[in-house]
Amino acid sequence: MSEKNLPRFIMCFCTGECPGFSKLELWKLINFVRNELDVQYAVIHPQLCVDDGDRFLKDFLKDGDKDIVYIIGACDPRMQKKAFKDVFNEKGLDINRQLISLDLRNMSTEEAMKKVQEAVEQVTKA
Ligand code: SF4
Repeated sequence: MSEKNLPRFIMCFCTGECPGFSKLELWKLINFVRNELDVQYAVIHPQLCVDDGDRFLKDFLKDGDKDIVYIIGACDPRMQKKAFKDVFNEKGLDINRQLISLDLRNMSTEEAMKKVQEAVEQVTKA
């Protein structure tokens, strides 16, 4: 897999106030992902499912590029799909193939790291 097609990881931290992420050491997780895993890069967004999150995704998702997989660490995958389907459609991307939504709530940092690692390997070793 070429470097430019490596998956991109976005951690949505739910404003930083969500009790579901109280056990998660955000910086430890994001530094693990960007330094240790085969990703293009890893970024943090405070609240992807509201207007500024939508504007961010409109800028961030690469128009019509069907080769990049986006891994989003956040909440319930079904809720993520509902929240992000319009912007994926608008950018000409296939949400079912190009989005891996991970529910990282109520996990320890180590559990979240393992879950993200498995998702990255699923993409890069496919
Ligand atoms: S997408 Fe999920 S984790 Fe992110 S802000 Fe919205 S509800 Fe919270």
